[in-house]
Formats: sequence, C-alpha cells, structure tokens
Amino acid sequence: ERRNPAQPEFHQAVREVLDTLAPVFAARPEYAEAGLVERLVEPERQIIFRVPWTDDRGRVHVNRGYRVEFNSALGPYKGGLRFHPSVDIGVVKFLGFEQIFKNALTGLGIGGGKGGSDFDPHGRSDAEVMRFCQSFMTELYRHIGEHTDVPAGDIGVGGREIGYLFGQYRRITNRWEAGVLTGKGQGWGGSEIRPEATGYGSVLFAGEMLAVKGVSLDGLTAVVSGSGNVALYTVEKLQQLGANPLTCSDSQGYVVDDKGIDLALLRQIKEVERGRVSEYAARRGPSARFVPGGRVWEVPADVAFPSATQNELGADDARALIANGVKAVSEGANMPTTPEAVHLFQAAGVAFGPGKAANAGGVAVSALEMSQNAGRSAWSRDRVEDELAGIMREIHRVAYETAARYDAPGDYVTGANIAGFERVADAMLAQGVI
Ligand code: NDP
Repeated sequence: ERRNPAQPEFHQAVREVLDTLAPVFAARPEYAEAGLVERLVEPERQIIFRVPWTDDRGRVHVNRGYRVEFNSALGPYKGGLRFHPSVDIGVVKFLGFEQIFKNALTGLGIGGGKGGSDFDPHGRSDAEVMRFCQSFMTELYRHIGEHTDVPAGDIGVGGREIGYLFGQYRRITNRWEAGVLTGKGQGWGGSEIRPEATGYGSVLFAGEMLAVKGVSLDGLTAVVSGSGNVALYTVEKLQQLGANPLTCSDSQGYVVDDKGIDLALLRQIKEVERGRVSEYAARRGPSARFVPGGRVWEVPADVAFPSATQNELGADDARALIANGVKAVSEGANMPTTPEAVHLFQAAGVAFGPGKAANAGGVAVSALEMSQNAGRSAWSRDRVEDELAGIMREIHRVAYETAARYDAPGDYVTGANIAGFERVADAMLAQGVI
C-alpha cells in the first residue's frame, strides 16, 4: 500500500486474489522462489497521457487518459477502455489485474490490460464524443497493435466509441489492422454476438452453477442491476431461457417491473435515445415503478446479476437477497460485490460466480473476433454463440474442479483465482525473470 497509495480498488482486487492462493504456494514452492507475486502485482507498463478536446461551444477541456499493460505472458494485452468520471490509475489497475486471470481462464491466449479516461460521455453530443475519441487515440495508437495490445469497450465505451477510435487509428497509421480493437461494428470487422457476449455469458454461467444444484433457470425470477451493455443482454438471455428479469437500474435509481422487463422498450430508451431508466417506468404503464436512489437488491428474486459497477452490492444488500431466498449470484460487472457480501453468500450456501469467471464471455468473444480478423473471415451468429456456450461451460468446469481439488468445493472464487493464476504463473516461470 505504501508503493501504490490511494488505490483502494486495486488493493481490494489484489487482496481478494492473494487470499485464495496460499494452498497453491504451499504446493508449488517454485512460484515463490521465482518472485511471481511481486512480478504479477507490478504492471509491465503504465501509460498516462493528456487528452485535450474542444466542446461544441468551442471551449477546451483536458482529460486524463490511461492504458495499463499489465501482463503479456499468455498473449497480447487485452482489456477494455472505460470512460467514466471515477476513472483513475487505481481503478484501471484493479480492472487490469482482474483481467489477467479472467483472460487466462478463457484459454484463448490473451494477456491482461485495461485503460480509459475520466471523460464523462453523459450529455455530450456525438461530435464531442468523436473529437474526444480522436484525441484519445492520437496518443494511444503508438502503444497498441494487433500483436501488442488490443483494447475493447467497457463502461461508457460501446460501438459508437469503438468506431471513432478505430477510424482515427486507421487514419494515423494508414493500416487496415482490424485486430487492433474489438467490439467493432458488423460489416467492418466486428464479430456477431460481441455486444451480447458478456451478458449472455453471465447468464450461461449462472445456469451452470444452478445445474450443479439440480435447478434450471426456467421459471425463476431475476434481479439485474445496470442498464448498459452487460445488463441489457443479461435480460435478453434470461428471457430466452424462460426466466423473468424484474429490474434494471442506473446511477439515479432502479426500476421494478412486476410483469418483467420489456426489453424492446428498454433498448429503445437506452440504445437509441441514450436516456435514463426513469423514462422506462414513465412509459411502461402501471406494472413498472421507478425507485430513485434505491438498489435493486431489495426486490425479492431467485437469482441476482450485478451488472453495473464495482462495489454496488454490499453486506446489507447480501443479507436482503439471502433473506429473500436467492439461489445464485452471477457477477456481470467487475468486482460489484464487496468482500463482506461475498463471504455472506458463501456462508449461506448461495452459488456465487465471481466476475473473473462469470463475465469472461465478453473478452472470450473479443478473442474470437481477433481470430476472425486474422483469418479475414466472419463467422455465423450460430457458430459464435455455440463457441461462447462451450467456453462458458469450460470455464465453469475448470473453476468447479479446481475448487474441489483445493478442498474448497463449490467455492468458485477460489477455483477461478487458482485456475487462472496457475496458467499465468506457469507461462511466467517458463519465460524466465522478465
Ligand atoms: P455501460 O456503460 O454500457 O453501462 C454501465 C451501467 O452501469 C449503466 O447503467 C450505468 O448507469 C451503470 N453505472 C455505471 N457506473 C455506475 C455507478 N458508479 N453507480 C451506479 N450505476 C453505475 O457499461 P457495461 O455494461 O459495458 O459495463 C458494466 C460492468 O460490466 C462494468 O463493471 C464492466 O467493467 C463490466 N464488464 C463489461 C464487459 C463488456 O463487454 N462491456 C466485459 C466484462 C465486464 P449510468 O448511465 O447512470 O452511469
């Protein structure tokens, strides 16, 4: 903490991983001898840069841009860009650190990285977002590449932003290098199912955890937080599998809809109009109401999908969910559940899927997008969806079996951390002290 002051999220993420690794270090003394932990917690490279841009009224703004290239033992750095006012170096490092193990779990040969800016896209015009993205890429382009570092989207960065970023990269470099960014539009290098992949994967992971308990998602009720990319497609997959998602939220409050979320209306408001969930409640009719400032976790349901942001589900929320009989929690977001809340779920026997495993579907399909780009091909929707389902099943199997092997049956946190760590650690050992 002395070395990395004022980075509470990074400390939280590192502590959560290290807490579960003691048995691995006991079994494999060569890991400690090789200084693996000391090397793993220090990013290979951290880039911080100025992003100046001009708003529609001609005023100049200056934001800060980040890219943390954390670990490339298994492949090129891979991880999203986040545009949100809360972004600082500690947030980017927490996300990059998590990404190392998540990417290892996919088995697809990608290292870990993350980036972003404290820019707030809310309320900005398309032209302003474009100028910001162009300025951001004017510095970032020299650090990335299809064999070096491949960014994607995250909070505040969706298809529109990836488009502007890719356009500027192409212009500066004079190269059609599709594999430099993932989450591109279909028709210019994007993969089918990429926008859906994180939410779909999170629901599939929940389905796998429930199957172990002999339960099916069909007929269950669900609470989902957020109303962005991950949340929308969590709702869609839940509905496809016969479950009933009752809620969504944003930073102003949440909506509960007794009839279940009307996805077409929610997508219209969020994806087309870029509006707020309060508008959903206003337009949906009497089945829905907006609760300003509240959290979805007070709504009774069988399964829960935190899909907005870090530390959005605390101990009191966990107690409420447990009291209402929740059976499984699947983290669509990164580190949305506080450590205390995770312990409460595990102690109560609730199946808990950590983000590293449960939300790995997004980066997995990003890696499939890179494969398609390298082969200058485009796979069918069915093919990508089948691959995604196979990858999520495999991540679940590996996490489940690793937990059992280390005497922690059913503990997916331990299973995912150890399985991801072992893959990275073995590659680092083989590649020497670098
Ligand atoms: P979006 O920007 O599409 O949506 C984010 C949603 O979360 C919005 O509804 C937003 O509400 C809400 N939100 C963001 N910050 C806060 C906050 N501080 N308090 C309350 N609500 C908040 O992002 P994504 O859906 O892409 O990402 C959501 C989570 O999933 C993040 O943790 C991300 O790291 C993780 N993730 C995303 C992946 C992807 O493929 N996109 C892959 C793996 C993980 P508002 O509009 O009011 O800010």
